[in-house]
Amino acid sequence: MNEHLDTRSGAIRPPKRPVSADGEPLAEFRLNLSFGGSRRAVAIRATMKPLDQTGLLPILQQFDNEVVALAEEESARKGKKISCCAGCGACCRQLVPVAAAEARRLAALVESLEELRRSTIKRRFADALTAYERAGLLDRMATADQIPDEATRGELGLAVFHVGVPCPFLENESCGIYPDRPLACREFLVTSPAENCRSPGPDNIERVPLPAALSETFYRFSATGERQPARWMPLVLALRYAEEAGAEPLPRQPGGEFVQKFLGQLANKPG
Ligand code: SF4
Ligand code: SF4
Repeated sequence: MNEHLDTRSGAIRPPKRPVSADGEPLAEFRLNLSFGGSRRAVAIRATMKPLDQTGLLPILQQFDNEVVALAEEESARKGKKISCCAGCGACCRQLVPVAAAEARRLAALVESLEELRRSTIKRRFADALTAYERAGLLDRMATADQIPDEATRGELGLAVFHVGVPCPFLENESCGIYPDRPLACREFLVTSPAENCRSPGPDNIERVPLPAALSETFYRFSATGERQPARWMPLVLALRYAEEAGAEPLPRQPGGEFVQKFLGQLANKPG
């Protein structure tokens, strides 16, 4: 049981069956989340249609926004001010993990852009890969999710940061895809001074504690419920991955079933 995200007071009720504005049946999950002294009532609505994880991702993004909002409330309750704001993008030079479904969704988003922006962003992705290759980091980055210990992952993360390549989606130090940003970006907030993010070290970054990191559960998510190792890739590899994966179809499942399984795996996450 996740000791931080307390859903006991509201329990995970069996899904209701509301309908969308166009009459589509929806599954609804009502949760009463608590974290420290903060409480938040959350309703997660999900389509009953079978979709792959790329299509189901917005449900998780909405849920993650609620969990992060709860963390922000708890931080404020404790008198800790969050330093993050628009136009503050030093953290967008870090190694940003994304799940395979997030990578595919980001690649589709890039393809949907108008020509000039699309080619600009694609060039930034290509330049980023070149920079990391020149720095001798690209191969290690490609298998970063398989690094077993946190210290070695942290050392790689710091080396990536010191290459100084901005995320291809960063525009004027703000996120250019804010509503679509990865779960890991949503979950990264700090109360340490913003200037510390320009020279992050083991002791000068104070992250806002989260009741649960949905991203980590998503990296391990299994439709069958079997325990899986965390699988993710650095965001800069997203377009290359999506190109290699091509049109290979992903498994589908109804949105309501996905949420139910996700909540179960979130509650039982290891550690
Ligand atoms: S994590 Fe640091 S660099 Fe990123 S928005 Fe927050 S304060 Fe700014
Ligand atoms: S996706 Fe947005 S928030 Fe995330 S690293 Fe890139 S620019 Fe920053």
